[in-house]
Amino acid sequence: MIVFDLVCEDGHKFEAWFKDSKTFQEQKENGFLECPICGSNKVNKALSPIKFNKTTGSSKVSEGVPSQQVMFQVLKRAYSKILENTEDVGDKFASEALKMHYGVTEPRNIRGVATKEEEDMLREEGIQFFKVPVMEKKDKKEN
Ligand SMILES: [Zn+2]
Repeated sequence: MIVFDLVCEDGHKFEAWFKDSKTFQEQKENGFLECPICGSNKVNKALSPIKFNKTTGSSKVSEGVPSQQVMFQVLKRAYSKILENTEDVGDKFASEALKMHYGVTEPRNIRGVATKEEEDMLREEGIQFFKVPVMEKKDKKEN
């Protein structure tokens, strides 16, 4: 098994597994190779092949898998969806969540930051929330 880093005409990079480089060539010539992002058949090798290590054996065969870059794009899209559909309550996340939980305020989608203690408290109260990695803008000043 070998894995090729492939790139389509639009510059999308992805990985695909092949039995050997001959298989890759055949699939390419027959137009079987397809960019998982845009579906283009114009796919080329981006890098020289990396030999597959037998000890990490896998049964996946010539299946396009999204690269980390693609995963990041998916995450980024999901993240901006969250930003669009939530109200930023900053560090008042825990108290706002509690207020909604006890019917003090109307339920709505909020986002914000909470300390470890606040998170534990919310969990104990049975309040459901989920954490996402914060993509901070790089305007932080370190003093
Ligand atoms: Zn593409």
